[in-house]
Amino acid sequence: MPESEHPSIAVTVAPGDGIGPEITEATLRVLGAAGAPIAPEFVDIGLRPYEAGHGSGIPPAAWDSIRRTRVLLKGPVTTPQGSGFKSVNVTLRKTLGLYANVRPCVSYHPFVRTLHPKLDVVIVRENEEDLYAGIEHRQTDEVFQCLKLVTRPGCERIMRHAFAYARANGRRRITCMTKDNIMKMTDGLFHRVFDEFARLHPDIECEHQIIDIGAARLATRPERYDVIVTLNLYGDILSDIAAELSGSVGLAPSSNIGDHAAMFEAIHGSAPDIAGRGIANPSGLLLAAVQMLVHLGQPEVAARVHNAWLTAIEDGVQTADLMGNLGIGRPFGSMDFADAVIDRLGQRPRQLAAVDYTRAAAASETVPPEAAAMPRRADKRLVGVDVFVHRSGGTADALAQALQAAATGPMRLQMITNRGVKVWPDGLPETFCSDHWRCRFAVGEGGSITHRDIVDLLGRVTAAGIDCIKTENLCTFDGERGYALGQGQ
Ligand code: NAD
Repeated sequence: MPESEHPSIAVTVAPGDGIGPEITEATLRVLGAAGAPIAPEFVDIGLRPYEAGHGSGIPPAAWDSIRRTRVLLKGPVTTPQGSGFKSVNVTLRKTLGLYANVRPCVSYHPFVRTLHPKLDVVIVRENEEDLYAGIEHRQTDEVFQCLKLVTRPGCERIMRHAFAYARANGRRRITCMTKDNIMKMTDGLFHRVFDEFARLHPDIECEHQIIDIGAARLATRPERYDVIVTLNLYGDILSDIAAELSGSVGLAPSSNIGDHAAMFEAIHGSAPDIAGRGIANPSGLLLAAVQMLVHLGQPEVAARVHNAWLTAIEDGVQTADLMGNLGIGRPFGSMDFADAVIDRLGQRPRQLAAVDYTRAAAASETVPPEAAAMPRRADKRLVGVDVFVHRSGGTADALAQALQAAATGPMRLQMITNRGVKVWPDGLPETFCSDHWRCRFAVGEGGSITHRDIVDLLGRVTAAGIDCIKTENLCTFDGERGYALGQGQ
């Protein structure tokens, strides 16, 4: 049965704010003309719901629709100024478990000006963990903390997605980027899980790069990259770099994929400076809709739209943002641009590479759902505690003396660090010290303690007038140290 005869698939559509409604209308016009078998359910997300008192910008009716259709095509949303408003995107990603953010960035040389004509890279960014948990605290007068969380199931899910994506889309190489030379436990776990998946996929060339040199090379030699898989914060930055390198922020799509739902959007924002003028480039959202059609198992109509779009780009069909780029011809408005794509439905580009999504759609159907993360219950032993202390002024030696006097239980004070630098024993007078001290207490080799020992220690330290702001237990897991030694060791 031709795709156009398939029963319609319900899809939630949120036009969003600013240029959102214009580019959504243009996108849906192309999808309609291409015979995409979708039935849009329109919902309001963004400014109006925020102003109506929905702090996340997503009213209950929108949630109902998204939870029913499990697929959201979303226009950009204006983030209101001031506190009390939660980011729509972060809320959607976390609530729906959209753990993989996939952003293909491609150069369309010579039709869109770019410094990197051969750029064709896909950034697969972990979307839920890392420093984006929003767990932040002010601990002392001088020190603020943000907690970085990386989980094994989270790493496994993003690797599963990255490797399946590479295979399904004929990509040959995956580069994992982390900073595990410094963050050996969190980024180290991400790297280790990548290596485990690399061993299972001998058909894919795998490499690891430290994020700083990786980002530098991406900016200067992007053609050497194929798929990049990385943690949330690095991926956030890298994907903007890659999109910018490709020529225009108006071109790049992104998909946010989970095991139970998916969201598709352009990478750009609501562009209030040009909203309402009908001149916005709808390409980012249109290409996001192409990703959505592949996700919905509609590879032929996805390719028909994408190839018509590529042909239009080759024919010099350009919105104003691209005109600024090349400075030739006349600018197309958003709807004229959509009509120019519609005129080319059924055509294939002559110079740019035509797309074919048959394999990608078939493979996405065979990716197993939630890989049941095997519960790995290690033999966990408590061997000490890091006590974080707020203390202004005074020396590390004086603090050590006070702590040693209080530590009368099974643990001994082993070291004090300040901002990660060891200041006791054997500190150097040159080291700058803030009012935030990490004091490590532990038992001797082979010993262990109980939680009661930690509570007793805290009781004595507090009774000595020392302000404890938090503790971190020191544990071994199957005999392996579950904490960093400090000082980058
Ligand atoms: P922006 O991406 O909206 O605009 C940056 C520049 O790019 C502007 O000059 C704009 O005119 C231009 N531009 C963007 N998209 C374009 C398009 N499709 N066609 C032609 N030109 C385009 O970034 P901003 O100005 O920093 O943010 C505006 C608002 O959008 C803010 O409230 C921000 O929080 C929000 N935002 C939302 C999302 C999202 O919903 N996913 C993403 C980024 C920013």
